[in-house]
Amino acid sequence: MKAEIIAVGTEILTGQITNTNAQFLSEEFAKLGIDVFFQTAVGDNEERLLSIIDLASKRSDLVVLCGGLGPTEDDLTKQTLAKYLGRNLVFDEQASKRLNEFFATRPQFTRTANNERQAQLIEGSTPLQNRTGLAVGGVIEVDGVTYVVLPGPPSELKPMVWDYLVPLLSSDHKQLYSRVLRFFGIGESQLVTVLSDLIDNQTDPTIAPYAKIGEVTLRLSTKADDIESAKEKLDQLEQKILSKKTLNSIPLENLLYGYGDDNSMARVVFDLLKKKHKTITAAESLTAGLFQSSIADFSGSSSVFNGGFVTYSIEEKSKMLQIPLEKLQEHGVVSHFTAEKMAEQSRKLTDADFGIGLTGVAGPDSLEGHPAGTVFIGIATREKVHSIRVLIGGRRRSDVRHIACLYAFNLVRQALLQD
Ligand code: ATP
Repeated sequence: MKAEIIAVGTEILTGQITNTNAQFLSEEFAKLGIDVFFQTAVGDNEERLLSIIDLASKRSDLVVLCGGLGPTEDDLTKQTLAKYLGRNLVFDEQASKRLNEFFATRPQFTRTANNERQAQLIEGSTPLQNRTGLAVGGVIEVDGVTYVVLPGPPSELKPMVWDYLVPLLSSDHKQLYSRVLRFFGIGESQLVTVLSDLIDNQTDPTIAPYAKIGEVTLRLSTKADDIESAKEKLDQLEQKILSKKTLNSIPLENLLYGYGDDNSMARVVFDLLKKKHKTITAAESLTAGLFQSSIADFSGSSSVFNGGFVTYSIEEKSKMLQIPLEKLQEHGVVSHFTAEKMAEQSRKLTDADFGIGLTGVAGPDSLEGHPAGTVFIGIATREKVHSIRVLIGGRRRSDVRHIACLYAFNLVRQALLQD
C-alpha cells in the first residue's frame, strides 16, 4: 500500500510551524508496514488543495490529510475533499453530542454557526472521534483510494490516530518490525563494504546503515504477521552480519556493542556497571567533564558514580590528582604516562572500581607536537592500569571530545565484559 501525507496549513509553508504531524504519521505507518511515498504541505487554498488531492489520488492508495478541520473560514480540508469526491457533508451524531456537551458546560463560550462544521464529516465516512478536541476526523474509501482526514493540533491528531486509525488500518497489513544494531570501531563506508553482498541483495528483511558521530547503526526491518516470525527472520540476518569480518579481519561480532535506538554506548556501560555493582570515576582534561556528565544523564547514576575530577591545566592535574608536577612535565601532558596516572589517581582518591583518565588535543591547534585529535585514555581497575592512544583526525573540537568519551566508555565496557 502506497501512502501519502498532505499537511494543510499556510503556517507550515511560511515556516511558523514545523510539520511534526507528517513525521509522526510516517513513523506510525512504518510500524504498520505501510510505505509512505510522499509527504506534501499545502496552504489553506481550495484550488491548490484540490490539485494536490487529485495528484495524490492518482499515485497513492492511502491519502491522509491533516489540519484544517477547525471552525474558521480558512479551515477547508473536509469541504474541499467533499467537493473533490462529489459528496455532501453530514453531521456525525457523536461529534454533535460532544459539541453540545462542550458548550453546555462552558456558558462563557459563544457557539457560532462555524462550530457546527467541526461535527461534520463526508457522507459515507467512518468517523474518527476526537477525544481531546471538537473536530471529528474520518476515513472514506472511494474508487480504491482510502482518504483520511485528521485535525491539525498534535494533541488531537495523535490520540485519534492511536485510538481509532491504527486499529482500522492495522487489520489488513503485516506489521513492520525493526532491530537496530550499534557498532563502534568501524566507519559506515567500511561496514557497507563488508556487507555489500547482503545489502545489494536485500529484499526482506532490509538493512539500513546510518552513520552517527563516532559510531554506525544498522536498522534491520522486516514485515511479518507476528513478532515470533519477525524475530526469526531478524535473528537469521543478524547472524549473517555478525559472521562477517572487517577489512582487518576483526569479526563484526566484536564491534557490536548494543541494540536499539536509545541504547547509547554510555547507557550500555551504565547498565553494566549497575548490574555488576561497580563504581566509576574519571579525571578529564580535553573532555572537561563530558564523560562524567554522560553518566549523570541517567537516573540512578549515584549508585555507580560518586564524583570525579576535571583537571584542565598541568598544575591542576598535579594538585588535584597528587601527581608530581615534574613527572607530568617529563612525560608530557599528552602521553600514556599522564593518562594512566590520571586514571590511577582518580580511582584511588575516590575508591572507585574503575578510573578513567582522558588527556589529549581537542584542536584545532596541535599540542606538545601531537596533532589535533590525538587522545590518550587510561583505565585503572583495582588490579592494574593501562592506556590506549587514539587518533580522531579531521574532526571538529566537539566531535573529538565526544568520540574520545566513546572510546573511554568502550574500554570500560570491554573490561566489564571480561570481569
Ligand atoms: P483547529 O480546530 O485548532 O483550527 P485544525 O484541524 O483546523 O484545528 P489547523 O488550524 O490547521 O488545524 O492547525 C491548528 C494548530 O495545529 C496549528 O496552529 C499548529 O499548532 C498545529 N498544527 C497544524 N498542522 C500541523 C502539522 N502539520 N504539524 C504540527 N502541528 C500542526
